[in-house]
Amino acid sequence: MTDKADIVVAGAGHNSLITACYLAKAGYRVQVLDARPIPGGGAATEEPLLPGYLIDSCSTGHTIIQGNPLIAEDELGLLKEHGLAYIDPDPVAHVAFPDGEHLTHWLDPARTSEEIARFSRADAAAYGRMLREWDDVKEVFAGGQFRPIGDGPSLEQRLSDHPRGNVWKRRRVMSAWDVIRHEYESRHVRAYMLWQAYQTFVRPDAAGSGVLAYSTVSSRQRRSWTIPVGGSGALTEALVRCLASYGGSVLCDRTVRRLLLEGERCVGVETSDGEQYRARTAVVSSIHVTHLLGMAPREVWPDDWRFGVETYDLGASGLAVYFATTRPPEFVVNGSVRTAVSAGTVGWPEDVVRFGRDMSDGRWTDDVPWLLVATPTLADASRAPAGNHTVKLLAPHGWRLPEGETWPVLKERRMRELLMHLRRFCPGLSDDVILGSLVKGPYDFEAANPHMVRGTFHGGDRSLAYAGPQRPAPGWASHRTPIPGLYQTGGTTHPGGSITGGPGRNAAQVLLGDLGTSLREVLDA
Ligand SMILES: Cc1cc2nc3c(=O)[nH]c(=O)nc-3n(C[C@H](O)[C@H](O)[C@H](O)COP(=O)(O)OP(=O)(O)OC[C@H]3O[C@@H](n4cnc5c(N)ncnc54)[C@H](O)[C@@H]3O)c2cc1C
Repeated sequence: MTDKADIVVAGAGHNSLITACYLAKAGYRVQVLDARPIPGGGAATEEPLLPGYLIDSCSTGHTIIQGNPLIAEDELGLLKEHGLAYIDPDPVAHVAFPDGEHLTHWLDPARTSEEIARFSRADAAAYGRMLREWDDVKEVFAGGQFRPIGDGPSLEQRLSDHPRGNVWKRRRVMSAWDVIRHEYESRHVRAYMLWQAYQTFVRPDAAGSGVLAYSTVSSRQRRSWTIPVGGSGALTEALVRCLASYGGSVLCDRTVRRLLLEGERCVGVETSDGEQYRARTAVVSSIHVTHLLGMAPREVWPDDWRFGVETYDLGASGLAVYFATTRPPEFVVNGSVRTAVSAGTVGWPEDVVRFGRDMSDGRWTDDVPWLLVATPTLADASRAPAGNHTVKLLAPHGWRLPEGETWPVLKERRMRELLMHLRRFCPGLSDDVILGSLVKGPYDFEAANPHMVRGTFHGGDRSLAYAGPQRPAPGWASHRTPIPGLYQTGGTTHPGGSITGGPGRNAAQVLLGDLGTSLREVLDA
């Protein structure tokens, strides 16, 4: 038994590491535990294919976290002192449509508008209007993301105080598809906007996805699909260095299986090897809430928490294909080629909407209405041997196995299908340029990270029923749990999954407040 920490943190994903860093900076002795052999969860860079080919096993784009004061104000010195650096690639994105047309999204808004105007002048004007409208309210929404639920006025109240609040109150509960078809007329532009809005796998016709039609594309217009130099794991490395500088540490290969309770209070955790890690002050968890439920006797969880967790939507599962290549995917555009760190293909709007629904149901489909093709080496040569590339194909994927299929066979077949599909647009990505490949399906992600239940990437669906004050359960969105001394962070808490750092910083704010100080006081000390 170890009895040394003030705070024990279960999980070393970027969110819980962020919480750990703020607490360690406040002077608490912090011990972080993680089930995986390396820290970082979905912010990890590994070499599963060939030496020197640094692959982001999960996340690559770190756009949303750029608005978090953690990075925007470099609150913990990750940029200035701990070696983290970001690149903003241009073009922002390049997407091919089923009829061979394409759209390139540039960092220069005027150039992007020209691209959109090739399909519809009215849509180019709508795009400009959309960017301006979002600019006008983005602080209201960002303030909601990077502030714990219950701290200050609610989003609804802040919108009431905004001159155009009523418009946004409607958009907020609409679906992304409803917003897009209201604003745009061209089939191609609608398809592109859906490709952007579906990046976090919240199905585009879900109530509450409407803001994604604005926020995703606008944040990319402002700053691109930002990537960390060296790989997604660079964020984790900077956080681990920061934690160590304040005396905290991370232990890997430690799977938490039980919460230690004394009376009603959580006083530590037990790992699967029987070791107990006790916390003098508090325990922080980024264990998936559906697992957390089984880690303490049923009677300690009140009925509303249990109901909230039992009805929690896990979200859509995903599949990824990784390649080490001698050439990047080159999209043929009017006789020449175009490359982009963030590229992809998209089907017609009605197909994307249907696909989103199928993916939420876990259903298998053969077609490819949505595909992301990430080639970070186009902007960051440090990730592969000179002139070579790492490529990741990413798509939502049904988790229900079709009759008579097995996952090992199915996923290899799916990899070939995705590659054949991509070659329609990038014929140069032939077998001879591919030096190594790997495919991971929903159950591989779950096996690699217990937080990615059923291979879901974002800690749970983020549509209206599971967002904001409803996440993870109504009444329990403040990072406190029904068990005194136990706090929850990670993608199952507000504002949800992706690399945002929001849950991590918000949880630190709540816990520091409960400990009689504040994040501001800690930063100013
Ligand atoms: C293939 C893929 C591509 C993605 N691409 C992007 C992208 O480009 N941009 C983006 O923003 N997001 C992306 N995501 C999503 C993103 O990676 C996650 O939403 C994000 O990592 C969530 O962070 P987190 O800190 O909440 O949890 P995680 O990163 O999931 O970390 C949770 C940690 O807790 C640990 N843990 C869980 N249970 C236990 C336990 N019982 N005991 C001990 N440890 C435990 C896990 O091992 C894990 O390390 C992608 C995800 C995948 C899988």
